[in-house]
Amino acid sequence: MKVVISVDLEGVCGVNSWVQVSPPEFGGLVNAAEYQAARERMTLEAAAAAEGALAGGATAVLINDAHDAMRNLLPERLPESLPPAQVRWTSGNDKPLSMVQGVQEEGVGALLFVGYHARAGSVRGPLAHTWNGFIRNVRINGRDTGEYGLNALVAGYYGVPVVFASGDDVAMAEIGDELGPQVVCVAVKEGLSSFAALHLHPREAQRRIRTGAEQAVRAAREAKPYTTLWPARTELSFDHQARADQCERVPGVTRVDAVTVAYESPDALYLFQFFRMLSKVAEVRLEG
Ligand SMILES: [Zn+2]
Repeated sequence: MKVVISVDLEGVCGVNSWVQVSPPEFGGLVNAAEYQAARERMTLEAAAAAEGALAGGATAVLINDAHDAMRNLLPERLPESLPPAQVRWTSGNDKPLSMVQGVQEEGVGALLFVGYHARAGSVRGPLAHTWNGFIRNVRINGRDTGEYGLNALVAGYYGVPVVFASGDDVAMAEIGDELGPQVVCVAVKEGLSSFAALHLHPREAQRRIRTGAEQAVRAAREAKPYTTLWPARTELSFDHQARADQCERVPGVTRVDAVTVAYESPDALYLFQFFRMLSKVAEVRLEG
């Protein structure tokens, strides 16, 4: 069985500030040393999940860099392919399936989340957000969700279940609540506020991830792909009405309130790609 590991950065042990997750070439949050330390820990957590997956019976592991420009992983620190097992990794944005690139490949039996964070608006979730800085909420068929829910639905479209997640405790509670007990959840830190956390030692976090991923992949054949009722209604709320103004001009989009638009999707792939498109459409200059 092949597995895909989607690795984000905000939920990694030791991370609780935007400074740590911003590559130096982006924006004003320049702190190369802090970013470098965070990406090293991100890589070691991904490596721990990959080792666990291989120990749990995976024959191939695809590690998908899923943060920001998606050029964070340090591949020399990842486990090497030990034939017949194969380890591959992706780099670069924009990939056809973004954070879950690889789930569409033949023979993938499980998806693992590493470094995941809580959805936009979650109290006590360090760096809680959904996709970008201006989406305030994503609601699918009446349920508020985050990146984990969108990604789980896309994987489900390809028949792939989510079996493991690591990140902060608020994110783990949200993921357990939405995706159910089949997901082995490992909290590597406890959220204290939007920008503070109580962390495990990084090596302890990596050990727990390795053990949890092994257990999760061993049980993956029993796991069910995630889905919802179709056609599904998605409501997107923004931080400013100008973003909803732009989205409302897209055929098929309706206005719900000043900052919220809605659309219907026949399946999860449509839902996800339409969501990505509206995220782009909503990127307006608020200065006018
Ligand atoms: Zn991220």
